[in-house]
Parts: sequence; C-alpha cells; structure tokens
Amino acid sequence: MAGSRFAYVRKFELPDSLLPGTFMVFRLDGHSFHRFSDIHNFAKPNDLRALQLMDHAARDLMEEYPDIILGFGESDEFSFLLRKSTDLYNRRQAKIVSTLTSLFTSSYVFHWSSYFLDTPLQYPPSFDGRIVLYPGEQQIRDYFAWRQADTHINNLYNTAFWALVQQGGETTTQAHHTLRGTVSKEKHEILFSRFQINYNQVDEQYRKGSVLVRQEIPEPPTAQVTIPKELDDNIPPVPEPSQTGGKKTKPKRDVKQKTKIVVLHCDIIKDEFWEARPDLLHD
Ligand code: ATP
Ligand code: ATP
Ligand code: MG
Ligand code: MG
Repeated sequence: MAGSRFAYVRKFELPDSLLPGTFMVFRLDGHSFHRFSDIHNFAKPNDLRALQLMDHAARDLMEEYPDIILGFGESDEFSFLLRKSTDLYNRRQAKIVSTLTSLFTSSYVFHWSSYFLDTPLQYPPSFDGRIVLYPGEQQIRDYFAWRQADTHINNLYNTAFWALVQQGGETTTQAHHTLRGTVSKEKHEILFSRFQINYNQVDEQYRKGSVLVRQEIPEPPTAQVTIPKELDDNIPPVPEPSQTGGKKTKPKRDVKQKTKIVVLHCDIIKDEFWEARPDLLHD
C-alpha cells in the first residue's frame, strides 16, 4: 500500500546499526545526581537505599533483556555487557540505548518508595545512556576493571572526605583542602589514625560496587523413592495435559538450565572472576 505524500520524510531517518561481532557495553549515569542526592537527603558517603534501588533497576533490566550477561554498578551509574552475538533490535543503536535507558529509569521511579520509605520523590530523575563497542576480550576486561578501579578511588576519597566533615568537624572546603594532593596510602592513614577506620574493613558493596551475573540454579536432587510393587500397580498413570487418553508418560525434564540474577560485591579486576565465567567473553 502506498503511503501518503508525506511519507518521503521517512527517508531522512538514517540507519544506525552497530557493527556486528563486537562487544557492546551499555552505560547509563544519573543526570545531575549530585543535586538529586542532596535534595533527597542521601546519606554520605554512601546511601545504601540508593545503591539497592540502582541494583533493583539493573536487575529488572536484565530480567527483561536476556542478552545482557553482566552488570556493574557504582554511585549513580551502571554498565551492562551484551552478548557479542546479540541481535537485539537488529543492533539499532538509538533503539537499544533509548529503550534500555527508559526501562531502567522507569524501574528506578517505580521502586523508589520501596527503598525511600519516608522520602517522597521531589521531581522525576533521569539518566543518560550510551553504547561503546569494543573489538576484543582484553578491552572488555579493562573496561570493567576501569569502572571498578574508579569505584575504589572515589569511595576512598569520599570516605575520607566525609569522615573529616562528619567526625572531624571540618567544613567541606577544609576537607577538600586536607585531601588535596594526598595519595591513597595517606588517605588510609588519615582514616585510621584520626577516625579509627580501617578502610579495608569498609563494606565491600561500597569498595567494590555491585556485580550482577546470571547464576545457574542447581537442580534439586531427584528423590529416590522406592514404591512397593503392590502399591505401584495401583497408581494410575499421569496423563499429559493435552492428552485425553490415559497413555502412561514419563515426567519431562526441562533441558534448559534455569538461571537467576545475583548481586555480588566481588573483585572483577583479577582473573578469577572471568576464569570462572568463560561464557562472558566467548559468546
Ligand atoms: P552528571 O549529570 O554529569 O552525571 P552528576 O551530578 O550526576 O552529574 P556524577 O559524577 O555522576 O555527577 O556523580 C554522581 C553524584 O551523585 C555523586 O558525586 C554523589 O554525590 C551522588 N550519589 C550518587 N549515588 C549516591 C549514593 N548511593 N550515596 C550518596 N551519594 C550518591
Ligand atoms: P515498537 O516497540 O516497535 O514501537 P509498538 O507495539 O509500540 O512497537 P507502534 O507502532 O509504536 O508499535 O504502535 C503503538 C501501538 O500502541 C498502536 O498500534 C496502538 O495499538 C497502541 N496505542 C498507543 N497509544 C494508544 C492509545 N492512546 N489508544 C489506544 N491504543 C494505543
Ligand atoms: Mg551522574
Ligand atoms: Mg556518575
């Protein structure tokens, strides 16, 4: 059927499909969350409710899109790795970025009140989203290492900064000044000597971020029940729901292994995480 005389404008829409056979990383980040976290009284340096809400939205996204095989979150951002061979929306960039960003955002708003019980949303939050393509496994390893190293650097700084303000009585300007030019070791030292905080004992969730992976659910062991012969003869066969006759059938086994999404706070810089999950990089 011919379209209207206006339909030619469609030709101005350019294809934007992403190079096949490359790894796709989708990252989103809260828009102006410095302000958003102030207005909603986030605890500093880390508001656990806000982090759990981010994890929840990320989990919702992974439930909806099976092609996302890994998620990593810190602060107001989340990165997702899609299967190298994904054909999601024919790899159309704008379609993927917009639908994923939109679902994450709506999930964040949808679940807000379950985490912030006494803090109503003051205005609708938003997230930006982007996709970066990487040609090889090493870049994917380095990408996630980069984000987790960033989590560590930011969290060490923020932990020291807010200890100086909240426990040390410094103004934010003074705290910035105290920390200016300090290396990691000195921040550890300030935390330990002045505030008795051993940074290595700070919650892993804050130091390492959130890692979302799919984990196989182990099948429950099949119960070995021995039925006495005389009883067995009296048990009627189980009919298939679609069958009207009384044909004796064996229960079917679900050949597809069931998985669930789990949130870990583990190291993803070293080899161990990747060696335990070879599929992440070979799919
Ligand atoms: P942009 O729009 O450029 O991303 P932004 O204000 O969101 O600007 P970010 O660099 O993304 O800047 O930093 C996010 C800020 O949000 C952090 O610096 C921190 O102040 C705040 N924030 C995010 N999550 C939390 C949390 N769980 N607990 C406390 N503060 C948080
Ligand atoms: P895609 O994800 O590709 O956009 P879609 O199902 O959203 O798929 P659209 O071409 O965007 O397809 O069409 C939106 C459909 O949503 C319409 O065909 C109609 O069935 C339904 N719809 C949207 N708004 C209304 C409305 N206000 N009242 C009734 N139906 C609506
Ligand atoms: Mg932000
Ligand atoms: Mg950010």
